[in-house]
Amino acid sequence: MRFEGKVAVVTGAANGIGLEAAQAFAREGAKVLLVDRDQAGEARAAELRAEGLKARFQQADVTKSDEVRAYVEAAVAAWGGIHCFFNNAGIEGKVAAIHEQDEADFDRVIAVNVRGVFLGLKYVLPVMIRQGGGAVVNTASTAALVGSAGISPYTASKHAVLGLTRSVSGEVARQGVRVNALCPGPTDTRMIHSLEDQATARGANDAAERYRSAIPLGRYATVEEVVAMVLFLCSDAATAITGGQFQVDGGRTACPGGSA
Ligand code: NAD
Repeated sequence: MRFEGKVAVVTGAANGIGLEAAQAFAREGAKVLLVDRDQAGEARAAELRAEGLKARFQQADVTKSDEVRAYVEAAVAAWGGIHCFFNNAGIEGKVAAIHEQDEADFDRVIAVNVRGVFLGLKYVLPVMIRQGGGAVVNTASTAALVGSAGISPYTASKHAVLGLTRSVSGEVARQGVRVNALCPGPTDTRMIHSLEDQATARGANDAAERYRSAIPLGRYATVEEVVAMVLFLCSDAATAITGGQFQVDGGRTACPGGSA
């Protein structure tokens, strides 16, 4: 029960890593606001309430500043503050070489993955500063650390998330707010299967097998394994940690190409 009495806000909470994080925060005592553009988040929050946990859902598109302001205000109105913010919503975009990428797809990836993270920081941080502290985890990716041929808009967006994290961590450290970046490698959610399907549709043989064989541990991470890092970074065990990047990637960035 590391988060008893705390308020956690999670974006991209209707599915995948965000959903697992919202559930884990709630089961460890936090009051949790699930934020997503996908209305399915309402049912996920209701399931948590049925377990006797404290959870609400706020539908929002993280690219729209009025909707971001609204989810921040909803958390503060319901529970008085925000102690943990998992700034996580993201999209993968299209798998294609850069000269085959559409401008509209590029703009959409940057809007969700960069502008969405920026707006979350812009509106959540004043709440944390006012209350004297808090912990933020921005979801980047191993694509923030190395190139990823075929998803260059996504890769650029995740490098930007790391840049935002590093800069902002220095801006708010003295006000007691910690800001870190999570760098998952391929993780077993809808997103990685979309990338596999897109690569297969472009004629790649055994896309899933190729992705897995590039990981020394030989498999995708589970959402539970990724979320364990998020909760650690938001917990009182991590009070000296800010501005960092934390890979949960089965060794992929340390030793690309898999095991011997
Ligand atoms: P997912 O597709 O299962 O979940 C993403 C969630 O974000 C969805 O619920 C979706 O509705 C929501 N979302 C998308 N755009 C939104 C918007 N504009 N406003 C509000 N909500 C929006 O994917 P996931 O794997 O759980 O991804 C979560 C994060 O982890 C993303 O930032 C992703 O880039 C990152 N990530 C995933 C992997 C992976 O392999 N799955 C690897 C590295 C990083």
